[in-house]
Parts: sequence; structure tokens; C-alpha cells
Amino acid sequence: MDTLRELYQEIIIDHGRRPRNFGAPKDYTHALKGYNPLCGDQLTLFLTWQGNHIEQAQFEGQGCAISMASASLMTEALRGKTAIEAEKLFQTFHEFVTQSGLTAEDSLGKLAILGGVREYPTRIKCATLAWHTLASLLKGQQNEVSTEV
Ligand code: ZN
Repeated sequence: MDTLRELYQEIIIDHGRRPRNFGAPKDYTHALKGYNPLCGDQLTLFLTWQGNHIEQAQFEGQGCAISMASASLMTEALRGKTAIEAEKLFQTFHEFVTQSGLTAEDSLGKLAILGGVREYPTRIKCATLAWHTLASLLKGQQNEVSTEV
């Protein structure tokens, strides 16, 4: 199976062309910028909290198709998650795309398709940019996140 081809077919074409939850919301609780200097991908992640869970996750920015598709899929997956659940999802996703040979946990759902980037180490930062931004936001960081720090 050609994993990059599958990646493009399943995610890039769909989520890359029509990213979900794209655009800056009028109201939000938290926002943080992320930047991947290796590829030039940049985005801003917006989270709106309702009680202890994420009511809405949105993003805006520009970058390669993988970075946009990953952010699109992430914002879909975050809806309804608590901070602890979101942090756990970050860790599960990060391990999955950075370590070879792991099978996807059920909790990853559609995100598992991004595992194709493991074959292309230079693209891993593209797939994890939105997630590093999320993890930093959850920790309360306010300065722009860079994948190279
Ligand atoms: Zn990229």
C-alpha cells in the first residue's frame, strides 16, 4: 500500500481543500499561534470552553496540505473533550506519528490516517504543528509556538 498516496487521497484532498472549523470565531476563550519554520506552516488555534470541556475548536492560517488537514481533523476531534482528554489525545497522536510500528488506538479515529507521515520524517512537523500548539495552549503558554524550539 502506498501510504503517502493514501494520505493524499483520504485526507489532503478532503480536509486540505475544505478544512473544517476554519476561520477565526467572533468569540473564543483561548487562542495561540503556531509556526513550523521547516515548511513555513503557520496557524492560530482558537478554543472555546464551555464548563470543563471544549465547546468549539477552530483554526486559521496557511501552510501545506498536511498541516491544514491535520489541524482540520484535530479541531473535529477536540469537540466535547475535557482538558485532560485533549492532552491524552495529543500524547496518543504524537506517539503514533513519531514512533514507528505503533498500531493506531481506536481513540485516534480518522486521525490514524496521518500515520502515513512516519514514512516521511520531514513532514512529521507539518502533521504535529497544530497539536504542539494545542499542547502549549493547554499548558497556558501565550507566546507563539515553534516546532523548532
Ligand atoms: Zn508543512
